Amino acid sequence: MKDNKKQIILIIIIFLILVAIGIAYMTYMLEKIEANSNNSIETIVKNDASNLKTEITEQKAILQSVTNEIIMDNIVNPEKIFDMYERSDITSHFIRMAIMYEDGRTITNDGHEVNYLDEKDNFFSNNEIHISENKISKIDGQEINIYSQAIELKKQKIAILLIVKTDSYKNIFSNKIFEGKGFSYIVDTAGNIVVSANTNKGTGNLINNIERMLAGGSKERFITNKNVVEENIKNGVSGTRTLQTTNGNYYMVYEPIGANDWTIVTFIPAKAIAGEANKALLTTFIAAVIVIFIILAICIYIVIENNKKQKKLFEYAYIDPVTGKGNIYYFRKTGQEILEKGVKSNQYILVLDINKFKMINKAYGYKVGDDILKGIAEKLQEILGENSLICRYSNDYFASLFEYDEKIREILKKIVKNIENLRIENNVYNLSVNMGVYQLTESDANISEIMDKAIIAHSASKGDVYDKFHIYDKKMEQKLEKESEIENEMYQALMKKEFIVYYQPQIYTNDETLYGAEALVRWKHNGKMIPPNEFIPIFEKNKFILKLDVYIFEQVCSDMKIWKEKYGDEITISVNVSREHFLDEHFLEKYRMIAAKYNINPNNIDLEITESATIEDGIDIIGIMNKMKKLGFKISIDDFGTGYSSLSTIQDMPADILKIDKSFIDKIGKNDKNIVDYILTIAKELKLTTIAEGVETKEQRDYLLERECDIIQGYYYSKPIKKEEFEKFIQKKTKQDSSKDEN
Ligand code: C2E
Ligand code: CA
Ligand code: CA
Repeated sequence: MKDNKKQIILIIIIFLILVAIGIAYMTYMLEKIEANSNNSIETIVKNDASNLKTEITEQKAILQSVTNEIIMDNIVNPEKIFDMYERSDITSHFIRMAIMYEDGRTITNDGHEVNYLDEKDNFFSNNEIHISENKISKIDGQEINIYSQAIELKKQKIAILLIVKTDSYKNIFSNKIFEGKGFSYIVDTAGNIVVSANTNKGTGNLINNIERMLAGGSKERFITNKNVVEENIKNGVSGTRTLQTTNGNYYMVYEPIGANDWTIVTFIPAKAIAGEANKALLTTFIAAVIVIFIILAICIYIVIENNKKQKKLFEYAYIDPVTGKGNIYYFRKTGQEILEKGVKSNQYILVLDINKFKMINKAYGYKVGDDILKGIAEKLQEILGENSLICRYSNDYFASLFEYDEKIREILKKIVKNIENLRIENNVYNLSVNMGVYQLTESDANISEIMDKAIIAHSASKGDVYDKFHIYDKKMEQKLEKESEIENEMYQALMKKEFIVYYQPQIYTNDETLYGAEALVRWKHNGKMIPPNEFIPIFEKNKFILKLDVYIFEQVCSDMKIWKEKYGDEITISVNVSREHFLDEHFLEKYRMIAAKYNINPNNIDLEITESATIEDGIDIIGIMNKMKKLGFKISIDDFGTGYSSLSTIQDMPADILKIDKSFIDKIGKNDKNIVDYILTIAKELKLTTIAEGVETKEQRDYLLERECDIIQGYYYSKPIKKEEFEKFIQKKTKQDSSKDEN
């Protein structure tokens, strides 16, 4: 996100730089165009002036040569003069020729006669060639200019006139290139208009009439330093000016023609030039915009590509491909960010896993397994809300950081119910969930630490079939510390032979003779005796029980060997076999080999399997029991009555003995004998031997005798005892047996 901002800022900066460059460039271009157009206007006008000069000079030269010829040949007869004119090729330059007499009478070569008496002085002022200002022809109303030269022939003064159409000058002006928007004048040194290329623009003095001509009569003063312009024109100096008028700006260029002391003055509206300039500018502008957009598009493309790459990387790093939710790294990172915003009292962290998820993968395949994991993640999100942070942090382990305002137990129950009955494509997989939950406190600041607390609560619920979730409390941590202490020391304990077998005698109910004993492990650690309930569950979790059970089994076989040699093999010893063995079919091979090593008949060994182990999913318990039977071992179902197995499953089991759990024996004293009765009835029906566990009172013993329970194990006869003490029970039995024999 931060990177994105940086990139956007960078693009904006690049964009601004480009715009700045564009503006600078356009300003520069504008100036250049203006300078160029000023230059070109000057050039154009200079050109006009030069063309005009050529034209005028040529026409003057023609007139000069005509008068020279007249003087030289002394031609007085007008007919002859006109004849000479008409025969020459100069007629193409003029519309007619005329001869003016001193009385103003003027005759033309095409037979007209007019009088110019009022202007006579202009034509006879001196012998120089004179060019008139614009005139309206008295003959045909055309606009004309007259070239004239006065000569003396045989003491008679006449003026030879060559008349040109003013239009012929106008054609020379190139103001047309500005779409006819410009206009030009030829003025004399006083600024009087001699020739106006645009007739409608008036006559008289140009400088004094500019306002009227350019702006339709506005009184504004247009020419700064007007007198400079007047001076320039008077002295035949060229120049330029910009005129501001209410019709917009005009460029004024004046350029002496170099003939007749005339100056050509051209006005071009700035708009006309701007039109040209704008066209150029527009092209430049469009080009600049295109370039900017291309660069911008490239930048955006790079950013998008980069973002895509970033997103991919993000996904690789933070997204769990199976569920589409975050992985543990994402959870830690985002969770930490949430914590840093401040912990709220309604915040919880939850850890959840599915029991025996491996079995699901095995049974249904990984595709279904993945679908289930995805379904769980989605269900969690659905129940805990869109704002909750959900991740799958390994295999079938999920975690969530969420807020919840009502009773936490209610939502946890809802999660258990929904996930255990999760439906994937209309199939229900009967998942079993365990959860650990920790409610955050103000002092929590580290995501890993709070997750550890949820994990501690989770381990407390793990393996607990009845309590699907545990909420963290301090005791759990202490318990866990103790557990890890136990784990740290178990291997050494095994080597140091700290695990000791105690035997609890089992007595026939009817004649109170010895049947055998149950071997029960004790851990003598640092002078203290640790009871099995404190370490067996841990060893089952960490699988150390697999080693310990075998070790105990070997101890038992070793003890039995000694007793067998001393007293024969009349007794049966029962050994607890943890359910953890059943995941590996080959464990029985070890048991067989150990029994064989000590030369013990498996028939004298009773393998105890807890009833709850028999109903575990995914284990072929009947198959295992059959194998046990095949090897000759006896089998007893331990803690019978607590495992909720159905009658039919018991029926199918090749077991020999039912061990009635202590909790039911306890009820005998409380006058609640139904279950014991029921179990004894079933056992009888299935022809199973019955052992009552935890018998402590005579009342219990008497009742069991009455109900024909076969064997009794309990404090009433003996607590679990050291082998040396148990040996005394065997000795006693041997004596009883031999006295029986004697009788
Ligand atoms: P369990 O197999 O049900 O063993 C019977 C437990 O009941 C023993 O507890 C025994 O001391 C106790 N008990 C017997 N009679 C009475 C009585 O009259 N009153 C009372 N209050 N208790 C009585 P213990 O020795 O503490 O063993 C606990 C459990 O630990 C055993 O329950 C068994 O599940 C497990 N365990 C013990 N040794 C081993 C072993 O070597 N391997 C395995 N896998 N588990 C073992
Ligand atoms: Ca047992
Ligand atoms: Ca038991």
